[in-house]
Amino acid sequence: MTSEARPSYDPAAGVLEHCRSLVRIDTSNYGDDSGPGERGAAEYVAERLESAGLEPMLVESVPGRANVLARWGGRDPDAEPLLLHGHLDVVPARADDWSVPPFAGEIVDGYLYGRGTVDMKDFDAMLLSVLEARQLAGWAPRRPVVFAFTADEEAGGRSGAHWLVEEHAAWLTDCTDAIGEVGGFSTEVAGQRLYLIESGEKGMTWIRLTAHGTAGHGSMRHPDNAIARLAQAVGTIGAYEWPAQPGPVMRQLLEKVRELADSTSDDPDKLIAELGPAARMIGAGIRNTTNPTMLQAGYKINVVPGEAQAWMDGRFLPGERDAFVAGLRDHVGPHIEVDIEHEDVALEGEFAGDMVDAMTASLLAEDPDAHIAPYLMSAGTDAKAWSRLGIPSYGFVPLRLPADLDFTALFHGVDERVPVDALSFGARVLDRLLDQA
Ligand SMILES: [Zn+2]
Repeated sequence: MTSEARPSYDPAAGVLEHCRSLVRIDTSNYGDDSGPGERGAAEYVAERLESAGLEPMLVESVPGRANVLARWGGRDPDAEPLLLHGHLDVVPARADDWSVPPFAGEIVDGYLYGRGTVDMKDFDAMLLSVLEARQLAGWAPRRPVVFAFTADEEAGGRSGAHWLVEEHAAWLTDCTDAIGEVGGFSTEVAGQRLYLIESGEKGMTWIRLTAHGTAGHGSMRHPDNAIARLAQAVGTIGAYEWPAQPGPVMRQLLEKVRELADSTSDDPDKLIAELGPAARMIGAGIRNTTNPTMLQAGYKINVVPGEAQAWMDGRFLPGERDAFVAGLRDHVGPHIEVDIEHEDVALEGEFAGDMVDAMTASLLAEDPDAHIAPYLMSAGTDAKAWSRLGIPSYGFVPLRLPADLDFTALFHGVDERVPVDALSFGARVLDRLLDQA
């Protein structure tokens, strides 16, 4: 605990209203520049930062694709800055599928509904709420803080975090830690609350498979059929389960689960299953995965095409990139061309040190029954961009959740929602983090 005289204030006072307001600004990202862009949300954030006494910079990578940077604090002028980052874009939502309008910010049975309520306008709102409360109370964070509210995370960050790293690195380079998504939420193992903090991310490869064959009339014999050849490869790789190879971060998680579940099992899949509904996402952190996602071939039912293509979303464990690509080529066989259309790095940080101690202490102060473990995220976040500047990032958006909520399914999901009291919880934990870190 900090021994300095902390004034009294409520760090959660504004979190619900900020989250609602941000949800109501549609920032759907369709993967190109055809959406509404992040400008509206960025202006909202910049106005709040400015009225709290900061000097934010709003910068557009492409017209309408806006990012906001600002500096704040700290009381200790020698301390190294901490980067707090949240993206402003959301994935699209099909209103017909939802039980409430996805951009209305409605509250039903203690939950705030809306696209972005967990990914990740919740965190943006926590940051604004904590900032405003502390500024009113005259209580700056100990470490200087750099805020980065980014565009385009949901399409890989080329118009957002990666662009900031290329064009505005001076704002960021002295940061020694970063906090963003996806982690800090509670799961339940054997009736005990386990908070999972992201301490690494798998790498990604978006892969095109191409099969060639002899084109011709659909009535004749065609042993050299591109579609048949491609389908066989897609079936093989789609059904293949890569071996479990938990790295240091996931071994730390498995050890914690073993202890909480009072298990003697050494089977990583059995231990992962103890995480209940979260197992689907968390379980992807112990092995490479390859999911076929798109197919394209042919133009007429009685014509055998000369070429067939499929696309796969491949995710590899840290340190496994080359072995993964080699294994993939083996599985699809020599007659399939493998092209990597897009890739990004895997990250894995040691889950130890001052930052981890600070996150742990902040959580325990608000939830004394909390258990804490790191995990390796199956997907990617803006953390990949900051890693280009050597800044390690943790996923820590603290949410104390009801045990029966299938939380990880809400990311990009229908009826995305967050418990209102979890938003306040998160703001209080983050507030404590600013004194601990
Ligand atoms: Zn996100």
